[in-house]
Order: sequence, then structure tokens, then C-alpha cells
Amino acid sequence: MSSAPSSPLPSASSASGVTAVSIPTSAMGLGATDAPLSGARRALVLLVMQGLPFLGLCAGAWLFVQEGIRALDVALLVGMYLLTMTGIELGFHRHFAHRTFETTRPLRALLLVLGSMAGQGSALLWSGVHRLHHAHTDMPGDPHSPTLGRRGAWQRVRGLFWAQFLWYLDAPAIPRFGRFLERHRASPASVHAQEEDSQEQRLARTIPDLLRDDALLRLNQRYGLWVLLGLALPAAVGGLATGTWGGALRGLVWGGFVRYFLVQQVTFAINSVTHMVGTRPLETRDDSRNNGVMAVLTLGAGWHNNHHAFPGSAFTGFRWWQVDPLGQVIRLLARLGWAWDVRVPSPEAIAARTRRSAAP
Ligand SMILES: [Zn+2]
Ligand SMILES: [Zn+2]
Repeated sequence: MSSAPSSPLPSASSASGVTAVSIPTSAMGLGATDAPLSGARRALVLLVMQGLPFLGLCAGAWLFVQEGIRALDVALLVGMYLLTMTGIELGFHRHFAHRTFETTRPLRALLLVLGSMAGQGSALLWSGVHRLHHAHTDMPGDPHSPTLGRRGAWQRVRGLFWAQFLWYLDAPAIPRFGRFLERHRASPASVHAQEEDSQEQRLARTIPDLLRDDALLRLNQRYGLWVLLGLALPAAVGGLATGTWGGALRGLVWGGFVRYFLVQQVTFAINSVTHMVGTRPLETRDDSRNNGVMAVLTLGAGWHNNHHAFPGSAFTGFRWWQVDPLGQVIRLLARLGWAWDVRVPSPEAIAARTRRSAAP
């Protein structure tokens, strides 16, 4: 562990024109008005979050055994993976959660829809949970640290498993946050006055900039529709391309269900694997790691030690060999005039955070 200060999130600089967001220092733990999820509700949430995607994977395995896999299936799987991973990493993570760049309203809406299609929660919920992660990384209050309080090999394996598969069960606000946002839309002042110190309040306090945008909030509240769109789109392409119902079913399974499982597990592995496995070239006060395999799978998010050192940076790769495909997309958007206020740390700032043993 280093003693160097880690940047709070989002570390909006005054030069970027983005208003700094203050993160509450209270923990994600249960508030005075919170009750933990009941056993039946935990089972239901677990079924939705892990059971259904896994059933989707099983459907893909069954189809593979029965009929093999065709070029169109691979194209829909890869195409939908790239689209929804872009929605999560470029949209939910770098734009909504960290405000590392600003963009046009249509592109902002598109990123919200693509990210929602991944089925990992709405943009506002995802951003709130992620901002809490950065405010309390690997300390009490981090919603999904795999290392907090874990000593010894067995405890660390348990931590990895919990951060990968189960952490959201200890956050009852997550399944309730959509209804909280509905009440917020109806009466922002009264909902904040009534619900003191609940987990929903704590999440909401991390995203004042997003809550102020009513058009965004309206799109956000159609989350279920966007998840269904993520399943209907590959089914429609598969059906239209082959002119058969069987083609539609194959599109649904490969581009919808199997893709859903893969994108979810890869994204959650950023919470678990990249806080345990990889290198730590930059000074941070957490356990974040750079992991090249995860960087390829997430289109750039796997340089997680770089990201925790500079969470406000639009780019995650700081060396020529650190591949960051979505960073290149941001560069392209900026060149086209569709992205601006693109925030980048100076080479001096990166050098100052580089651990002596990691310097070239
Ligand atoms: Zn992290
Ligand atoms: Zn982040």
C-alpha cells in the first residue's frame, strides 16, 4: 500500500468546466432506515442477476451441441458484446460515472440505451454504486471490495467469489433504487426530506449532477425497455437475415442471452479480478491492478490501477502498449466535434505517481 493520496471521484478540474461532485463519506452499509433483503428476496435477486444469465449460457451450450455455431451467430454475439461493452465502459463508466468527457445529447442518450442493454442496472444506479466504490475503494463503504478485511488464501478466494457473484445482495437499495428515482421525479424535495440515511439516499447523494437532468432521468426510468431491446435486436437481425423463426431464436440466444452472461461476468471481474490479480505501477491507496487480459476483454477498463490513480482521465492506457480501444473512440469523437472537455492527466502527473520500481 502506498501513502500517496488517491484522487477522489470524479476529480473534476475547474478547467474542464465540470462541476465537482462531492461524495458522501458515509459507508454503503445499512442506514438507520434500512432492512437487509429477506431470504426470499435475496433468492429472487440472485436468480435475476446470476440464474437467468447462466440459463442463457446453458441455452447457448445446448444449441452448440445440437447445431454447432454459424457465422451469423458469431457476428451477433461479437457485435452485441462490443455494443453493450461500449455502453458500459464508454457510457456508464467514463461518461456518466466519471464525467471524463462531455458529449452531445443524442450520443448521451445512445450510450445510456447501449449500457442499459447490458442488464447491469440503470445508468444512475450503476454510476451511484461506482462512485461509492471510488470514494471508499477497498475500505469500509466500498460496495464490492474483494480484499477488504480478507487475510489468508482461503479468505481471499472467498472475497474474489463474493465480489464477482454476490456483493449486490448486501445492498438492498439496488433492487429498490428505480422506485426511489420515481419518487424523486415526482417530488425531489420531499423524498430527500423523508428518507434520511437510507442506502437509496446515500446512492442519490453521489449523483446530484445526473439527478438534475430530467431528460436523462426519464430515459433512465425506461431501463426495462432497454434490456428487452438488447434481446429483441439480435433476435430481429437473426430473423430478418435468415427469414426464419429459427434464425430469430438463434439471434436471441447468441446475441442476447450468451452475450448478456459474458458482458456481465467480464464487467464484474473488474470489481473482483482487477483488485487482486495484476501489476501496480502507480501509487494508489487501494488494491487496484493493471491486467492486460481484462483490458482486452473490457476494451480498456482492465488498466484498473491506472484508472484508480487517475479516475478523471478519459484514457486508461498510459504506455504505448496499454491497449485502450475505447480511448481511441473518444479521440475519434473529439476529432469529429462530438466529444469535448476530454480530461487527460499530464505526463508529469503520471510520472509523479509512478512507483520507483515500475519506472522505465
Ligand atoms: Zn476498482
Ligand atoms: Zn471508475
